[in-house]
Amino acid sequence: MLPIKDIAKLVLSRSNLRNPFDELFSEIEFETTAYCNRKCVYCPNVDYERFGEDEHFLMKEEVFKKLISQLKDLNFQGLISPHLYGEPMSDPRMSKWIKHIREELPKTRIKIVTNGDYLNLDSYALFKKSGVNIFYISKHSKNLKKPCRKLLETLSEDEKKESILLQDFYTDFDENQDMFANRGGSIEIEKKKKTTCKLFIFNLPCNKFFRGLNFVLSRLS
Ligand code: SF4
Repeated sequence: MLPIKDIAKLVLSRSNLRNPFDELFSEIEFETTAYCNRKCVYCPNVDYERFGEDEHFLMKEEVFKKLISQLKDLNFQGLISPHLYGEPMSDPRMSKWIKHIREELPKTRIKIVTNGDYLNLDSYALFKKSGVNIFYISKHSKNLKKPCRKLLETLSEDEKKESILLQDFYTDFDENQDMFANRGGSIEIEKKKKTTCKLFIFNLPCNKFFRGLNFVLSRLS
């Protein structure tokens, strides 16, 4: 469910009382590699590789440098997440590129979302030194790989609180599927998914309320 602040922004922009493009975005996600070493059943990666011509799957360095330079021109100070459906830690250039982001955009926060397969004591130390603020570890099997488990056992509770967020997709997929969507219809998980909406507005579930409000506003404009 969207936070109340975002719902308010949405209503104001739909009613033309606020231009959502006045503000600079606060978060950017981009992938430097289209490769993922896993093929989870609930991920579009399961059906096909997203490789380009000649099986290319790595972002060109000139594109990456241009992107960071444009963010610098914008004085971007938000959250940078270099990942989408590719596994960022499989990209051998990633720690160097994180360092580049940190040098060019010192006020940003850098988040790595990873399946944890390449995460161990050494890679964690290297990425932290390069400038990563937080790792989101997505668990996609019953157990994380041994080196990743060892890392989690070794880190202090304070360090984990500050730098790690573990998200258990494996268990959630078999239970409530709260963390899942059907990715624009590309995967079939809708049947099992239960509604998570608990917000009611004027006795209507929030999705129905906003659909109705949207309809009314479209008639007024
Ligand atoms: S690890 Fe993540 S990106 Fe890779 S296949 Fe699984 S869900 Fe998709």
